[in-house]
Amino acid sequence: MKPAVVLVSGGLDSATVLALAMQSFGCHPLTFDYGQRHAIELQAAQAVCKQLGARPPRVIRLDLRAIGGSALTADVPVPKGGPGEGIPATYVPARNTLFLSYALALAETLGAADILIGVNAVDYSGYPDCRPEFIAAFERLANLATKAGVEGTSMMIHAPLIRLTKAEIIAKGMGLGVDYSLTHSCYDPVGGLACGQCDSCVIRRKGFEAAGVPDPTRYA
Ligand code: ZN
Repeated sequence: MKPAVVLVSGGLDSATVLALAMQSFGCHPLTFDYGQRHAIELQAAQAVCKQLGARPPRVIRLDLRAIGGSALTADVPVPKGGPGEGIPATYVPARNTLFLSYALALAETLGAADILIGVNAVDYSGYPDCRPEFIAAFERLANLATKAGVEGTSMMIHAPLIRLTKAEIIAKGMGLGVDYSLTHSCYDPVGGLACGQCDSCVIRRKGFEAAGVPDPTRYA
């Protein structure tokens, strides 16, 4: 199978993308230890890769705490009570641009033309780097910025969940055998348990309800 780089975070969406990608590609999972508040997601990323029969994720250390500017990487409270108006404090400046840049470098090194990312622009927090326009723009950059692109490889950024609801994502993943109890979505975990109140917890819980699937998340 063709090689592909798959960004995995340990969350629900990227677990679903990895399960999808395993059907069509030889997957190289990539994850980041970026100084996030919820470092438990690194363990979740490893567990998800193992459960889906993928290689263990390559872990890149990236100190976004040196930059800060987000409730996930600085001493700023994580907003509670579900998504509100505007872009919330959990937005991490340019995070997906950084992650996709590393994925692109790895893809070029591996001779892979395909990168998969689990961004979603329906049930999400309004982050600008989760929108279809951003993915299309990065794909254009990928072809301009690399030796592979210039020499004729068509680099592709796949975001297969981008227009799905959270419930549709969960239904798809259940069909592919994803064990969502291994995934971690919470921005502000309490001793490894989900807080149940941050945007990510709220969106995730509503998704399981709408999909008619019992929520396997362990809440504090
Ligand atoms: Zn939470």
